[in-house]
Amino acid sequence: TPPDNLLEVRDLHTRYGRVEALSGVSLHVPRGHIVSVIGANGAGKTTLMNSVMGLLPPSQGTLIYDGQSLAHTPLETRVARGMCLVPERRDLFASMTVYDNLMLGAYSRRRTNWKGDLDHVFTRFPRLLERRTQLAGTLSGGEQQMLAIGRALMAKPRLLLLDEPSLGLAPLIVRDILLIVKHLRDDGVTVLLVEQNARASLAISDSAYVLETGVVKMSGPAAELARNPELTASYLGG
Ligand code: ATP
Repeated sequence: TPPDNLLEVRDLHTRYGRVEALSGVSLHVPRGHIVSVIGANGAGKTTLMNSVMGLLPPSQGTLIYDGQSLAHTPLETRVARGMCLVPERRDLFASMTVYDNLMLGAYSRRRTNWKGDLDHVFTRFPRLLERRTQLAGTLSGGEQQMLAIGRALMAKPRLLLLDEPSLGLAPLIVRDILLIVKHLRDDGVTVLLVEQNARASLAISDSAYVLETGVVKMSGPAAELARNPELTASYLGG
């Protein structure tokens, strides 16, 4: 039987004026899996995430989410149906507390059981509980990334789109963040993860796609790609 995909991307093209940043990307994200997209700077990873979320209009291609086309689905409907993007810039409210940032995540989906959701986020991120009255702008880089993910979880997403969560973080913190992402899968969240950090993301993913200048160059089960000599040479440091 074919995999039960929460998200299917078929032949996606996205352009900035005359420049095509995605030139026919196809991928699938099975329900309950972590799928990573690996690629160097400028490969088109952020463009892919923004196109899937609906922040950028694709010029061609099809997006199928939970069995339905997203062609005429506005951003707020995508959010209401459980799609949630954690952008590369994190977009926190720096002069608001950790607690208030989390509550804004609940507001975005008009969650009523926010107390239970908050307890769950604090269980996953004890560091945020300790720092709940601290201003978001004064958190370390790793803590800010935890807060960005925690805020997304307050909206009870079904598909979490994570754009380079490890960006700018020290290797040990990267490991912490990616371990947390792995635990999200245990909570039933499906994850599309974009990363430059190939080795660390393959280690927690079920499958992966290698993106190069807007085209998928390789794909397969994460464990297989991690052993692929071609990928090893270019992305895994030999
Ligand atoms: P990085 O890891 O550096 O963020 P990326 O893989 O996320 O890279 P994108 O940001 O998606 O790559 O960019 C893909 C291509 O599209 C690049 O060549 C980039 O210069 C171009 N691009 C991105 N945003 C714009 C824009 N607003 N206008 C014009 N070109 C853009």
